[in-house]
Amino acid sequence: MVKLGIVGGGQLASMLCQAAKKISVQTTVFADDKNSPAQHFADNFIYANYEAEKSLTDFANQVDFITYEFENIPFETLNHLSKLCEVNPNPRINQIVQNRLSEKQFINKLGLKTVDYKFVQSLEDLNKGSALLPGILKTTRMGYDGKGQFVINSIPDIKNININFQNEYILEKKIKLKKEISIVITRYKSNQTSIYEPIENTHNNQILSESIIPSSVSQTIKTTATTAAQKLTEELEYIGTMCVEFFIDNQDNLYINEIAPRVHNSGHLTINTHNVSQFENHVRAVCDLEFVPLKKIHNAKMINILGSEILKYKNKKLNTNEFFFDYLKKEAKPNRKMGHLTIITD
Ligand code: ADP
Ligand code: MG
Repeated sequence: MVKLGIVGGGQLASMLCQAAKKISVQTTVFADDKNSPAQHFADNFIYANYEAEKSLTDFANQVDFITYEFENIPFETLNHLSKLCEVNPNPRINQIVQNRLSEKQFINKLGLKTVDYKFVQSLEDLNKGSALLPGILKTTRMGYDGKGQFVINSIPDIKNININFQNEYILEKKIKLKKEISIVITRYKSNQTSIYEPIENTHNNQILSESIIPSSVSQTIKTTATTAAQKLTEELEYIGTMCVEFFIDNQDNLYINEIAPRVHNSGHLTINTHNVSQFENHVRAVCDLEFVPLKKIHNAKMINILGSEILKYKNKKLNTNEFFFDYLKKEAKPNRKMGHLTIITD
């Protein structure tokens, strides 16, 4: 039996474990939170600090392949593990996309487009960025679900926000969004790729709220986005599932927002819409298992369930086309992703 180690113990790790079980891959989750939801889905669970070298070594010795659920796992942790066991995707990739500045530089160097941006290390840098306003100031590291972001409409706004210049930032032009889409793609060592059709996403307070297939964008946009995602995985020699998030503005310009080097929230619907989900594809690719051609079975809409909303879903009577996923998180903090509902629409 193939043994897969997963670093990180949240909902993405839980869904990876469920997909692994389906194809008889044994899972060991390593996480630094003793309440990690994924312990309920993994075959083995190791609770230790990400800096605990001995625990990491024991973990690496127990498994055949290692992956991680989230790009914010410390680079040193992944680097240490990669000396003992094959780690996919390569932690080097993680280092590029974990930092919004190096991520954007990488994308633009390939001739792909991002919105205009500027590196900001000081108040002086920020004041020089007036051409990008209205804009969004984002920390270069550790941001997710809109955390570490400040909207700046005009120069006087700068005085009213409390920015800690111990961190580095990028100031991005805020564009008028017509739509957001994402492409979820899995690349195997053989260079074969499974590419899911574009998924249309709506955000609420910068947090993903709904994902839908089919998306209502033009064929040109679909093709351009798909080609860009394929190019990114090839250039990175990426192994596993990756997600590319795109913005579309009112003039139908397509921009790459960010690359998530992992399974992604917008791809959760693939559990119910395709023969092989983004999670199963990831497990197959990182464990060097057989490539299975992708087939769509259904269209669907996925709704994220945040905070205390989860309570009403726990007792909801589901229709036969509805699939509810409870992430089994202990505390229902406001805006925390607690679960999702996928509704098959055909
Ligand atoms: P996170 O890393 O937290 O997901 P993102 O950079 O993807 O952060 O931003 C979250 C959401 O905020 C985006 O999906 C989009 O809806 C909105 N947003 C972010 N940057 C911009 C921008 N430059 N212009 C317009 N909307 C934006
Ligand atoms: Mg995002």
